[in-house]
Amino acid sequence: MTIRVGVLGAGGRMGREVCRAVRAAEGLRLEVAVDPHNAGDTVEGVYVRSSHAELGPDDVDVMVDFTHPSAVYANVCDLLDAGIHVVVGTTGMTDEQLEDVSARADASSANAFVAPNFAIGAVLMMHVSQVIARYLPHVEITELHHDGKADAPSGTALRTADLIASAREDAPAPVMGEVIDGARGADRAGIRVHSVRLPGLVAHQEVLFGGEGQTLSIRHDSIDRSSFMPGVILAVRRVADAPGLTVGLEALLDL
Ligand code: NAP
Repeated sequence: MTIRVGVLGAGGRMGREVCRAVRAAEGLRLEVAVDPHNAGDTVEGVYVRSSHAELGPDDVDVMVDFTHPSAVYANVCDLLDAGIHVVVGTTGMTDEQLEDVSARADASSANAFVAPNFAIGAVLMMHVSQVIARYLPHVEITELHHDGKADAPSGTALRTADLIASAREDAPAPVMGEVIDGARGADRAGIRVHSVRLPGLVAHQEVLFGGEGQTLSIRHDSIDRSSFMPGVILAVRRVADAPGLTVGLEALLDL
C-alpha cells in the first residue's frame, strides 16, 4: 500500500530535502506540501499550500514537520486532532509540550514520532555516550550548527545530556568560576552544553569525556542534510505502527 506523505515547511532547507527523499522512496508518494511563506510555489512538482488546516486522513497518511520551534507544537496538535500521523524533526518543543503531545496521541487514532536527530551516526553517538558515561562520568557537550538555526542548545545536545544523566550513576560536582556569565555554557541535567553558531557549518556535536590522565571524545558531523533522510523515511514507514508518542530514532533501531 502506498503511503501518502505531506511535508510541513516544504520550502525550507530540510523540507525540500524531505520532499526529494519521499519522491525517491519506494512505496511513498509526496501528496501535500505546506509552507505559508512559500505558498503558490511548487516543490518536487507538488503545489505548496499555505496551511494544513483543511487536511484530514482522507487526504494524507503521514505529515512530516520541519518548520520552526515557534510553529511545531501547534502543528502537531492540529494534525493529531485531525487524525493524521505526524513525524517531527523540528527541535525546540518543551518537555511540557511533549507531555501534551503524548496525551493527545494517546487520545487520537493517529500517532506521533519525534526525533531530535534523524542521522544514524548521531543516534549512535548518543547511544555510545551513555555507555561511556558509566565509566567516565565527567563530560561536556559542544554542539556546532549553521547560523540560521533558531534554537540553542540543539535538541540533539539536550537529548544527549538527558540520556547521559540517566545512564551515569554519579554526577560529579560542577566546576564553575565564571568571570563572564555563560563562559561555562548552559546546564542541562548537570551537564555543561556549549553552542557554536557559524556559517559554513551544518550540524555537528562533540561529546568530550575526561578521566584520570585521559580524555575520550565522540564526534558526529552531518556534512549534508541527506544524512537525515534514511531516518526520516524509516519513521514515515513505521509511525502508523507505533501507538501514542515515540521519541528518538533509536526506538526503531535494534541497538
Ligand atoms: P528552515 O530552512 O528555516 O525551514 C523551515 C521552513 O518552515 C521555512 O520555509 C519556514 O518559513 C517554514 N515554516 C515556518 N512556520 C511554518 C508553519 N507554521 N507551517 C509550515 N511551514 C512553516 O529550517 P531548517 O534548517 O529546514 O530546519 C527546520 C527545523 O528542523 C529546525 O528546528 C531544525 O533544528 C530542525 N532539524 C532537525 C533535524 C533532525 O534530524 N531532527 C535535522 C536538521 C534540522 P519561513 O522561513 O518563511 O518562516
